[in-house]
Amino acid sequence: MGKRVLVALGGNAILQSGQRGTFAEQLENVRITARQIVRMLQEGHEIVVTHGNGPQVGAILIRHELGSAKVPAMPMDVCGGESQGFIGYMFCQSLHNEMAKAGLVGHDPVCVVTQVEVDPADPAFANPAKPVGPFYTEEQAKARAAATGEHWIEDSGRGWRRVVPSPDPKRIVEAGAVVKLIEAGCVVVASGGGGIPVMRLEDGQLKGVEAVIDKDLAGERLAQAVGADVFMVLTDVPQVALDFRTPQERWLGEVSASEMERYQSEGHFRAGSMGPKVAAALRFVRNGGERAVIACLDEALEALEGRAGTRIVRD
Ligand code: ADP
Ligand code: MG
Repeated sequence: MGKRVLVALGGNAILQSGQRGTFAEQLENVRITARQIVRMLQEGHEIVVTHGNGPQVGAILIRHELGSAKVPAMPMDVCGGESQGFIGYMFCQSLHNEMAKAGLVGHDPVCVVTQVEVDPADPAFANPAKPVGPFYTEEQAKARAAATGEHWIEDSGRGWRRVVPSPDPKRIVEAGAVVKLIEAGCVVVASGGGGIPVMRLEDGQLKGVEAVIDKDLAGERLAQAVGADVFMVLTDVPQVALDFRTPQERWLGEVSASEMERYQSEGHFRAGSMGPKVAAALRFVRNGGERAVIACLDEALEALEGRAGTRIVRD
């Protein structure tokens, strides 16, 4: 029976490590990803897509900065919106083409520029910790910090980088629009890069903020908002491991939520990579979702059918 599946795509769905990031490279990766999505559609599943944007928004930030002598640079929320349009375009075109090749009709791909509400009182605002954009020398970084009030840190010996807050996503502003599109038969791409972070002011108005939201945590909010049966995180490892990259490494297949919570509290999942995926997966199941799946992109359908990946199920 067809399920409603929220698919959260990792960086490798758009850019492979070692590639320069030309448009041709990215479009080819997205085409391969679209092929995996079409395989799931062919089995009768309803698919909603979200994706990361790290390298793409990093490149956009560089373009704005280097172009600022000629045209005004835009704030970070605008750069996030630009990346959603850029990546959403590649997905819509690739889905269209792969569906045509497969002879699949009746699914209209569409991208929704998505705002995600965060709480102004989120503790992340007092502790900007997520590195964004290019590396700078110490001198350049300190000059920029002094001129703008931005936060810059030394990033593990690789140079200086700007850090911004990474608050917890609270609400997908366009959720109602996404649901209407799904009900009308669209394959929706939404909340790209974790969504554009916005705050609700006291008078109810929305305003963009300089921050980034984790795409897996935002994807989970979207999964709940659209009533997904399955929340699926597709990345570049086949399963979640305990004692990852140690001689005791063990890969997880089907695991109950409480068992996964125990592994989480034992510290098996690194912050900034597997940590937020497991946190988002557990949040989905604890909020009433049927199952959460963490798998590699080229085993998406197999993982959905319970034959690959790590499946987190209700106790
Ligand atoms: P994405 O772009 O898909 O979000 P990330 O790099 O953020 O990718 O997260 C995936 C990475 O998480 C894997 O490549 C792997 O190196 C790392 N990782 C950290 N801890 C674990 C673990 N316990 N099991 C599997 N992978 C892990
Ligand atoms: Mg990640």
